[in-house]
Amino acid sequence: MTELALQTGLASYAATESSSRGRLHREESHPYRAEFQRDRDRIIHSTAFRRLVYKTQVFVNHEGDLYRTRLTHSLEVAQIARTVAAQLGLNEQLVEAICLAHDLGHTPFGHAGQDSLNRCMREFGGFEHNLQSLRVVDELEDKYAAFPGLNLCFETREGILKHCSRRNARELGDLGRRFVEGTQPGLEAQLANLADAIAYNNHDVDDGLRAGLLKIDELCEVRLFGDCHQDVVSRYPKISRRAVIHETVRGMINQIVSDLLMQTRQNIAAASPADIDEVRALSRPLIGFSEQVYAGHRELKSFLNRKLYRHERVLEMTKRADSVVAGLFSLYFADPKAMPKEHGDRAESLEVRLGEAGRARAVADYVAGMTDRYALSAYQRLIDTSLVF
Ligand code: MG
Repeated sequence: MTELALQTGLASYAATESSSRGRLHREESHPYRAEFQRDRDRIIHSTAFRRLVYKTQVFVNHEGDLYRTRLTHSLEVAQIARTVAAQLGLNEQLVEAICLAHDLGHTPFGHAGQDSLNRCMREFGGFEHNLQSLRVVDELEDKYAAFPGLNLCFETREGILKHCSRRNARELGDLGRRFVEGTQPGLEAQLANLADAIAYNNHDVDDGLRAGLLKIDELCEVRLFGDCHQDVVSRYPKISRRAVIHETVRGMINQIVSDLLMQTRQNIAAASPADIDEVRALSRPLIGFSEQVYAGHRELKSFLNRKLYRHERVLEMTKRADSVVAGLFSLYFADPKAMPKEHGDRAESLEVRLGEAGRARAVADYVAGMTDRYALSAYQRLIDTSLVF
């Protein structure tokens, strides 16, 4: 690959085109776009990316216009990661591509949909949303004449696959090796992973408060929120409740990102990796928080687990999501022709190759690709007209 339009000031341990492990299918380089930039552009132009706008993060899309969706979540993740990447001399184009693609494999209705589809697929190899994001970019997007999927660079795919069961990892060759050997991905991938956690921990506080499911008093007992909130109200005693919340969340993100930068710089200085392969060979990630901030981050995460993700209103949505996803899966599995023709044909050809598991995978790919509203309307049309969210 030719080095094109490169960000200046890349650190020696950053991912670069010249050290890239390349694409699955060989391609000519572009006259004026860099390779990781092409990856980002392909992701933005993909069908799966556009669907993220109608996929649940925590709140079902039509519950309100102001909650995060998978799309705005992905943009916030990319935003945080790019800031850090620029400070550390990492490859911003790569980190942005990974962040924008990291949730492409998410089912409708967030984690409830993923758990449901995983149960439906139990006898057929299961369903993992990270692995599904990889399937989307490797196989399911149908846009190019010369290859299936988006034919992204190894480093982008490495970052998208942030978790993977060992069983599935063994089938992924080079890309899955780190899950078997306990080694690390490049720093851009490590960064995208933590930027995801920073983004959702903080924006879920904002969304949870907006929905009235979280209470400020309770949140103030969580140290990270409590400290920032105290600081905001003492500095700005007269601002609106909404502005207090925004300033507090902004303060939390700032604090946690600054800590991440400081600790990561120390980790990099101590390990002093010469290049990306030395980063990969390490047994521990280099991108990380200080112990104190990590403890605060975990405390907030477990608070959200108890008070938001398991709030009865969210659990009620979980139950309905399960009926929709499981109902559609069994209907299409019993009758693949009920799916649009291209998916029905795919189920037939995968069944010839892989038996029932092939048919099940084609159905799972179709159901996973649905947006919340598409899944709901298919369910109402085919199964139960009375179900509402
Ligand atoms: Mg995410």
